[in-house]
Amino acid sequence: GLTSRLQDVFSKLRGKGKVSEEDVNEAMREVRLALLEADVNFKVVKDFIAKVKERAVGQEVMKSFTPGMVVVDIVNKELTELMGGTQSKLAKAAKPPTVIMMVGLQGAGKTTTSGKLARLLQKSNHKPLLVAADIYRPAAIKQLQVLGEQIKAPVFAMGDQVSPVEIARSALQHAKENGNDYVIIDTAGRLHIDEALMEELKQIHETVKPDEVLLVVDAMTGQDAVNVAKSFHEQLELTGVVLTKLDGDTRGGAALSVKAVTGCPIKFAALGEKIDSLEPFHPERMASRILGMGDMLSLIEKAQQTIDADKAAEMERKMRNAEFTFDDFLEQMEQVRKLGPLDQILEMLPGMNKVKGLKDMKVDERQLGRVEAIVRSMTKEEKRKPEILNYSRRRRIAAGSGTSIADVNRLIKQFDDMRKMMKQFSSMMGPKGPKGGLK
Ligand code: GDP
Ligand code: MG
Repeated sequence: GLTSRLQDVFSKLRGKGKVSEEDVNEAMREVRLALLEADVNFKVVKDFIAKVKERAVGQEVMKSFTPGMVVVDIVNKELTELMGGTQSKLAKAAKPPTVIMMVGLQGAGKTTTSGKLARLLQKSNHKPLLVAADIYRPAAIKQLQVLGEQIKAPVFAMGDQVSPVEIARSALQHAKENGNDYVIIDTAGRLHIDEALMEELKQIHETVKPDEVLLVVDAMTGQDAVNVAKSFHEQLELTGVVLTKLDGDTRGGAALSVKAVTGCPIKFAALGEKIDSLEPFHPERMASRILGMGDMLSLIEKAQQTIDADKAAEMERKMRNAEFTFDDFLEQMEQVRKLGPLDQILEMLPGMNKVKGLKDMKVDERQLGRVEAIVRSMTKEEKRKPEILNYSRRRRIAAGSGTSIADVNRLIKQFDDMRKMMKQFSSMMGPKGPKGGLK
């Protein structure tokens, strides 16, 4: 993939004490090929390479002690720039509700993303209204209603006999009367862009005057996604793009070309089928992800959203006072599990994408189930005082949890290690942690 190719180019470069102009040129030739192979738009690649070269061949690299690193840094910054530089936030109407229109081809992920966006807004205490304005695709209304039920967000629908324009108009009225501060309109898509579709979308646009027109595109379709974005933008004046299916086997081309080709920023990225898999798009994080530098920042953000801050603070206190028990251990594992599939979390950590067999991490999800069974088979006292866990107690726990003594031993060892690590960690962090704890 793109990342491993770039890593190869850079590791060659990093190994050198001195970097000549020819080295940089050679590296750039390889970067250029890697980008083209990743289905990045040809003109975008050309401009990109020219910019990087201009900076890299200049003084700053040659004089540096770590020229290879400087080149990586330049590429990283230019990649970030290419994707829009800074994070592009969702618009907000001066007077609520903020109206968001979701558009895109059939199957791009509009309906799913509408649900995810509503979920994201709920998390920051908004009251979104979902609007079922796709009356053509069989079961499209039902699909949105199911998503709405799942996240307990209201779904405005009028069946499939009322025109989408009328539905959108009524929905807006409904939102005003019911205190919904965001209105997310899920519109119909076609397999290809056609006049009738554009006409309908334009009419909805005229009627509700949306604050955001988000084009949902399937990142897996590479350059096609970019072409679709271009045509939609010419007709509808998009305000942003949502890239979906970034969890799949995409080559990265769409993410890198969309902004440069259309001038439209990517506002969100969807990384899975689950309702929680939508994230604000951060160009700098995407760049470091592409370069294989991991994505610590987005992991931390995700952790902060998922992990209950009060519980985390309580946990911290317990660690400091060495009150940490098996119950806490279990709870922590559950919190980690809530972050998402383990393989997805690990993929975000630096270097992890190089680890073979990452896909096999699913096995460890099962392991979590075993841990849970073992802890549940302990008595209250055992959970609080692991040091009393002698052989006969361990045997009883193994039998009670349907595991083996080896499993129980392993868990107790993990727990001990964790306790030790926490002791070190808390003494290192000082009495209140670097910033007074999580959040
Ligand atoms: P629409 O026709 O544009 O409304 O597309 P849908 O929302 O119905 O989605 C089409 C298919 O893509 C569904 O099976 C979704 O589950 C799937 N999908 C949407 N977003 C993602 C994503 O980010 N990752 C993956 N893997 N699948 C997605
Ligand atoms: Mg749909």
